[in-house]
Amino acid sequence: MRKESRKEKQNRRIKMATIAFIGLGNMGGPMAANLVKAGHEVTVFDLVPAAVEALVAEGAKAAATVEDAAKGVDFVVSMLPASQHVEGLYIDGTGLLDIVDKNTVIIDSSTIAPESARRVGEEAASRGIMMVDAPVSGGVGGAKAGTLSFIVGGSAEAFETVKPILEAMGKNIFHAGDAGAGQVAKICNNMMLAILMAGTTEAIGLGVKNGLDPAVLSDIMSKSSGNNWSLQVYNPYPGVMEGVPSSNNYQGGFMVDLMAKDLGLAFDNAVKSKASIPMGSMARNLFALHAANGNGGLDFSSIQKMFADLD
Ligand code: NAD
Repeated sequence: MRKESRKEKQNRRIKMATIAFIGLGNMGGPMAANLVKAGHEVTVFDLVPAAVEALVAEGAKAAATVEDAAKGVDFVVSMLPASQHVEGLYIDGTGLLDIVDKNTVIIDSSTIAPESARRVGEEAASRGIMMVDAPVSGGVGGAKAGTLSFIVGGSAEAFETVKPILEAMGKNIFHAGDAGAGQVAKICNNMMLAILMAGTTEAIGLGVKNGLDPAVLSDIMSKSSGNNWSLQVYNPYPGVMEGVPSSNNYQGGFMVDLMAKDLGLAFDNAVKSKASIPMGSMARNLFALHAANGNGGLDFSSIQKMFADLD
């Protein structure tokens, strides 16, 4: 049989790629399902059998081991909890970088430390394997709807290669820079989000303690210079806005534990890169304390509880 040319392979990959998807949790599950829906041949692996079965019901193939899933595929996509899981998968534990084919392209969408992403990216490059860090923004809702933002770190060639695959799972695909840059941009964004949410809840709390209606105050601020994303689409005070976690006992959305994790990544990175992040550090303290008080599983807008008598 005639060997596929590079161009032919590229074109086929855009329409129907073979993809191994590792890590089928809250985010990875729906992301893998969207790749199946887009017509790709997806083989899945997770440590939790029920997560694999759910994807098989969506049309994916199950693999008995991570090695079986990843051998000979066009792309590997991973969506794991934290740095140690990603370094364990690719280098220290399973050593997937020594198992995949040289022309397999790797996409890690987990949110991890930039230095971990750089380490794995450099190890991949030293083996001639193309890899990007591609953390996401948009939460579980965005993962289900296929509207995630992907923030990619890697070479321009790698970015162009992974873009069609990411477009099956997301709406906005950004190229932040070289390996690790996707993770840096992601932690900058989430640090900013935490600061804005903490500030918004503090301001609403002050207004309410002075007898203002939180809905009226939110309306005033959202049309004044205090306007921000939290006020526009994610109001943190119960009952002000429909369809957001604050009006559903802070269920769903983006967990306090995950925000605390991302703020920890920002803090560690700031120390290593000698950047000053006083506001981010304060936000980290607030969200970590809120988690320690038993709120880790709630949506992050529940930080409002620290600034208002809600219970
Ligand atoms: P999750 O805990 O729901 O899922 C992680 C999955 O990885 C689990 O199913 C677990 O069994 C699996 N896993 C762990 N180690 C494994 C291994 N070695 N091999 C195979 N599977 C393994 O987490 P999530 O909410 O899906 O988040 C995943 C990543 O995305 C995290 O880095 C998180 O910070 C980031 N993120 C999450 C959200 C969100 O709203 N949940 C939003 C943006 C980014």
